[in-house]
Amino acid sequence: MARMRSAGVTPTMQRLAILEYLENTKSHPTADGVYAEVRKTCPTIARATVYNTLEALTKAGTILQLTVDPAAARYDADLGPHVHFRCRLCGEVYDIDVKQEDCLGDLVKGHRVESVRTYAFGVCAQCRREAPAAGRSSAKKQERRGTRKSAGKEEGNAP
Ligand SMILES: [Zn+2]
Ligand SMILES: [Zn+2]
Repeated sequence: MARMRSAGVTPTMQRLAILEYLENTKSHPTADGVYAEVRKTCPTIARATVYNTLEALTKAGTILQLTVDPAAARYDADLGPHVHFRCRLCGEVYDIDVKQEDCLGDLVKGHRVESVRTYAFGVCAQCRREAPAAGRSSAKKQERRGTRKSAGKEEGNAP
């Protein structure tokens, strides 16, 4: 409740349920994911309430909005320094333990650093078990194949 008040968000039962869920999950859910989970305990909650609360908490720095997933923003209430790893096969986002320069709380050239974000990409342990071939390190070939996607090539008769 204190975290919410300091974010300038009036702590209603529904909003508290949102923050509490985020604080207790490691899954870095999307807004829709938060909505689906919180509805289980607060069936009357509106999707807009979830979106607005996540936005307010993000703006206040109470939670982090992650851009690790190009499909949708993901949210994390864990503000401690840690690295996010996204699996290119299943899309799951995991916390991984990688040493990174820890300048949290320090002044860097006069700037107060509040979060440091490092993203790592690859194939997760679960997917490597299910499809070992896909988990081999052929990242560069994959990348080259990926860039051949012909999005926007259909524009046709450009002068
Ligand atoms: Zn995976
Ligand atoms: Zn995290």
